[in-house]
Amino acid sequence: MKIILLGTGTPNAEPCASGPAFAVIHKGKPYLVDCGAGVVRACTSMFYRGVYELRPQNLTHVFITHLHSDHTAGFAELLLMPWVLERQEELHVYGPAGTADMCSHIAQAYRTDTDFRNDGPEPANHTGHKTDVHAVTEGKVFEEDGVCVYAYRVSHGQLESYCYVFEADGKKAVFSGDTCALEKMKEIAGDADILIHEAQYTAALKERTPAWQAYHSSMHTMSVELADIIDAAKPALTVTVHRILHLNWYGERPVPAEEIRRREDALLKEITDRTASPCINGHDGDMFEI
Ligand SMILES: [Zn+2]
Ligand SMILES: [Zn+2]
Repeated sequence: MKIILLGTGTPNAEPCASGPAFAVIHKGKPYLVDCGAGVVRACTSMFYRGVYELRPQNLTHVFITHLHSDHTAGFAELLLMPWVLERQEELHVYGPAGTADMCSHIAQAYRTDTDFRNDGPEPANHTGHKTDVHAVTEGKVFEEDGVCVYAYRVSHGQLESYCYVFEADGKKAVFSGDTCALEKMKEIAGDADILIHEAQYTAALKERTPAWQAYHSSMHTMSVELADIIDAAKPALTVTVHRILHLNWYGERPVPAEEIRRREDALLKEITDRTASPCINGHDGDMFEI
């Protein structure tokens, strides 16, 4: 299995991190987890770096962790761009309740485009812009060509949110999605070959207003909490993504690159100071083979 980080960002439009999106590749087929803004261009950029499985026509499956816009803002491009590039297969979409509504409303929003391409002179196929939607509940949600995907409910406020576990060839990759720290993650990530987990910079949380502190404490995982999880679960490798650095990204001037790096390093140190279990910060374009 190959794991590719297409987008490691957050709702902040960060200069060096696209919206949350990941790819799992097995037997030449890509399976996406989330579709943040820029997902198709991130795939084509990897295609041009030699990851031929990520040619846009091959993007046919996506597993959505939850319906926050940072994780779904690229849905329209994932639905339509590959179709315009002659993907014949409909897009298979797995996600929480509400996913079918999102799909049908976005299809409706682009009706002018799809009608024009379907009915006009463009030699478009009439299938690749359609969706095949599956509402996810806990348990096994997908099995095909030796890949099994399991969904576990996580805790992200009132939003129905899932962590996805991919298993193939005796290997296991876990994607936390957005969640506060969960005791059960110690079991889910136990014996994982790779854990892709969100994290926030604990020491900087106090810089936020009380309302934002309360929000982030209940919705996201602090680095020190992630350290406890991975110390117990001991995945072969943990990769942090969706890092909340508690920066004021859009003040009068941009945040200096050194400050972004300093906070990323400090977040990682909060983890590695507490556990010997291997952990790194993931960035857009990183690739892992398990
Ligand atoms: Zn998010
Ligand atoms: Zn979220």
